Amino acid sequence: MNDDFRNDGARRVGQVKEITSLANPIVKDIKALAQKKARDETKTFMAEGLKLVIDALDLGWTIRTLVYSKAAKGKPLVEKVAARTVASGGLVLEVSEKVMSAITRRDNPQMVAGIFDQRWKALKDVRPVGSETWVALDRVRDPGNLGTIIRTADAAGASGVMLVGDCTDPFSLETVRATMGSLFAVPLVRTSAGDFLKWKGSCGARLVATHLAGSVDYRTIDYRSKPVILMMGNEQSGLPDDLAGAADALARIPQTGRADSLNLAVATGVMLFEVRRHLLALDGSR
Ligand code: SAM
Repeated sequence: MNDDFRNDGARRVGQVKEITSLANPIVKDIKALAQKKARDETKTFMAEGLKLVIDALDLGWTIRTLVYSKAAKGKPLVEKVAARTVASGGLVLEVSEKVMSAITRRDNPQMVAGIFDQRWKALKDVRPVGSETWVALDRVRDPGNLGTIIRTADAAGASGVMLVGDCTDPFSLETVRATMGSLFAVPLVRTSAGDFLKWKGSCGARLVATHLAGSVDYRTIDYRSKPVILMMGNEQSGLPDDLAGAADALARIPQTGRADSLNLAVATGVMLFEVRRHLLALDGSR
């Protein structure tokens, strides 16, 4: 891996480079971020689109590299974001469309992409209070589901998303795309099922777990008197017994029709907007 993404302070500072070759080592490093191994090693990830990059910077995320295609050169917002990147010690790359396509793995790529430091919140620092809602996902496997859930959690005003057990990577390109920018606004926690259960014991929140065998209609649960941890099960196997057994309520969404269950992201959306129904209004207040 090139030093540009390392967290060891050795990255080059404030440079603007022009790159047209796919063989350039920096381009290779950025392309490698498609692999989880490279994202884990560098603790970075890529997000595409000018608006997303600006939102991320506004929310205080650390940008390591800004990449823009030649066609974007001279556009005021791009110049501004490039200046912000340089000012914060990041690298700016002006690349050919061919390079941009290769980096983003798209035929019609966005004109701007950013490489950012990953950000995780520690479980021990999560202390739900008042009307907070957290979403806890048991072994979520599908990147699109995770991205959609992060986006929905943002829209419903949830305080964050906890990834329990072996989950798909929220910083994969597919998940980042599906979040539509909400990734930058929703705190993420990762934890084992054991640590989650220990934490739950003393967190003071109500654990509402969704289960196809749940006996309680999700519309009859008290979501107001305590903060809520909304727990959702794995796409294939649902919630395991230890997590389901720790729940204060096992909620079910009534269904008709032939399908056995709802898609995980759809079920999360239905639940979240019920849990937070009393807190949401059309004027955007929460
Ligand atoms: N075969 C799995 C099972 O038996 O649990 C189906 C899992 S379902 C596709 C994924 C998750 O979505 C479930 O674990 C649950 O959290 C949620 N879910 C889907 N439909 C639901 C429903 N009707 N009521 C409550 N939760 C539901």
